[in-house]
Amino acid sequence: MTFPQRGNDSFRAQRVMEPSPPASTPPRPRRSSYLSFSPPLIGEEEIAEVVDTLRSDWITTGPKVGEFEAAFAARVSAPAAVALNSCTAALHTALAVSEIGPGDEVITTPLTWAATVNVIEHVGARPVLVDVEPDTLTIDPARIAAAITPRTRAVIPVHYAGHPADMASIDALARDHRLLLLEDAAHALPAAYQGRTIGSGANPVAFSFYATKNLTTAEGGMLTGEPGFVARARILSMHGMTRDAWKRYQKGGNWRCEVVTPGFKYNMTDIQAALGLCQLRKLAALQERRRHVVRLYAEAFQGDDAFELPVERPNVEHAWHLYVLRLRAGALQIGRDRVIEELAARNIGTGVHYVPVHTHPYYRTKYGYRPESFPVAYDNFERMLSLPLNPRLSDQDVADVIDAVLDVVQRYRR
Ligand SMILES: *Cc1c(COP(=O)(O)O)cnc(C)c1O
Repeated sequence: MTFPQRGNDSFRAQRVMEPSPPASTPPRPRRSSYLSFSPPLIGEEEIAEVVDTLRSDWITTGPKVGEFEAAFAARVSAPAAVALNSCTAALHTALAVSEIGPGDEVITTPLTWAATVNVIEHVGARPVLVDVEPDTLTIDPARIAAAITPRTRAVIPVHYAGHPADMASIDALARDHRLLLLEDAAHALPAAYQGRTIGSGANPVAFSFYATKNLTTAEGGMLTGEPGFVARARILSMHGMTRDAWKRYQKGGNWRCEVVTPGFKYNMTDIQAALGLCQLRKLAALQERRRHVVRLYAEAFQGDDAFELPVERPNVEHAWHLYVLRLRAGALQIGRDRVIEELAARNIGTGVHYVPVHTHPYYRTKYGYRPESFPVAYDNFERMLSLPLNPRLSDQDVADVIDAVLDVVQRYRR
């Protein structure tokens, strides 16, 4: 049986796009095959671990999930961790454990994946979006302070692209106003702020292991935090049951179970945890490769006034989940959308992170937002594109991306 996401050819075959309408002259440096934006890096070790799990008598939440939780908690120095089936589940569960609901307000950023905001709607609370900082594109603490009302219960900073938000300021606000500080760390494995690993604090932190993330279990997530909180999250993530099936079905286990609250079904499987354990062992090497690619991009693009490069503030360690390049307003004759088409015509896949949440029809309509409601997020969205950044890129792949970007810029510079 073939595994289409592994074989390069079949993977590419699925993703090849129609070339966009030709530019005035044909593009010069041209890759013969399409470079996918972010394919997963699955090795023989992962396959062996998954097969080993399939051959065992336990395929859903069991010993490997326990092992993965312990290894992950050790890696980020978390007080405790519960593995779940997504980061979205981790965010939702954390809000539910904190009993945030109707009448409450939760402050977060518009420049994120919609899941960050959707979970606030899931618990019936009101999302209050505030704009981002222009350099890191993470939530602006001054705007959080201005948005706090007596109904505010929580704040969800997103460590955008892997760059930690300004946690000293946000933490101070959360303490002063007794708010839940729930971090969306979907991009931030492994990242650090002022020498402390993201996930090492007592407050809840949600990680994602979706296929494109720095560590993948295909789908999956982890919620870290203080042990009592994580214990309640574990119950809530498993139907609200006080004992999981692994314990009930072991020899000497008791068939009795008690549902103490109407919980969710958000548990991770041992098959996913098998992938996660392998990926965790490789994480340092994968990150080194990401940093290498980032250095090559920086060398190629810095000093060119067509670009605004991603920043890394001195007090952080960036997880480099995304390489978000911003085009300087007015530098080119074409806009961001056209640049993306031109790169696709040169066989380079890119992404945009993100369509700001306030411009999606649901949020726009419900809360009456206009694009300019969050001018920093919207202006940057219009100028941004994410270049391929993943450990599968060879130096030649990176050189091809750089050639294609510089070719487009040279052709359309104003
Ligand atoms: C990927 C992502 C999520 C959701 O993660 P899932 O594991 O897919 O649920 C949440 N927030 C951000 C910022 C993300 O990038």
